Amino acid sequence: MKKILYIFAVLFLSQQAFAADLSGDIKQGAIVFGKTISGTEVLFDGKLLKVAKDGRFVFGFGRDAKAKSELIEKLPNGKELKTKLSVAKRNWKIQKINGLPAKHVTPDEKELKRIYAELALIKDVRKINSKNPYFTKGFIQPAEGVITGIFGSQRILNGKPRSPHSGVDIAAPTGTPVKAASDGVISLVHEDMFYTGKTIMIDHGHMLETIYIHMSKINVKKGDIVNQGDIIGYVGSTGRSTGAHLHWGISWGNVKLDPQTTLNFN
Ligand SMILES: [Zn+2]
Repeated sequence: MKKILYIFAVLFLSQQAFAADLSGDIKQGAIVFGKTISGTEVLFDGKLLKVAKDGRFVFGFGRDAKAKSELIEKLPNGKELKTKLSVAKRNWKIQKINGLPAKHVTPDEKELKRIYAELALIKDVRKINSKNPYFTKGFIQPAEGVITGIFGSQRILNGKPRSPHSGVDIAAPTGTPVKAASDGVISLVHEDMFYTGKTIMIDHGHMLETIYIHMSKINVKKGDIVNQGDIIGYVGSTGRSTGAHLHWGISWGNVKLDPQTTLNFN
């Protein structure tokens, strides 16, 4: 009996000497899922992360993330663990799109006012930091179709450079079902945004939000709880769009991440 207790004690202590388990690539644009000992405080580049009761947490690297990051874990026993992360650089594509209506490329003053008001709504949702870790379910691609645009591409619209593409474009016929990429709570429903048309956001907890845009029809309302795979709406071409497709994005706070890095964790 004494020996068994001793082994348990050694296992317990040795477990506490190891840093969190991280799943995901340490590279620009990537999401990273972590698991540490319950009750641990985790800091990513000095920023305190939410840690679920079972020790799970999430963070991510922006498109232009710097080469070095640091994760600090303050264990319940007072021990502090530091993990240095070397963030791999990615080569982003240049994407040229021509033939957009001029008014969508250079909005007038009235349209700019509308655009800023709509962006403010989205920004407010990205500030939500709810504690329910819905994201631990993992993520699926929300619509079937052909990937026609990837995260991080620098877009040149009618010859004018714009901000990098913030999500993935999935081309599919109008009416193709759009599914919730993971469990969560509907945090935004908008029927007509200037750029994004019919727009939905889902809060997956710990500052993770997915966004679904250009839809033809919306099936849900704000506050609805959805399960991964639930049909939340249908593919369309509303807002600034050149054809039927789903633009799917994911953000961690105000950091936009590459949705394709969220797949294949199950
Ligand atoms: Zn897009």
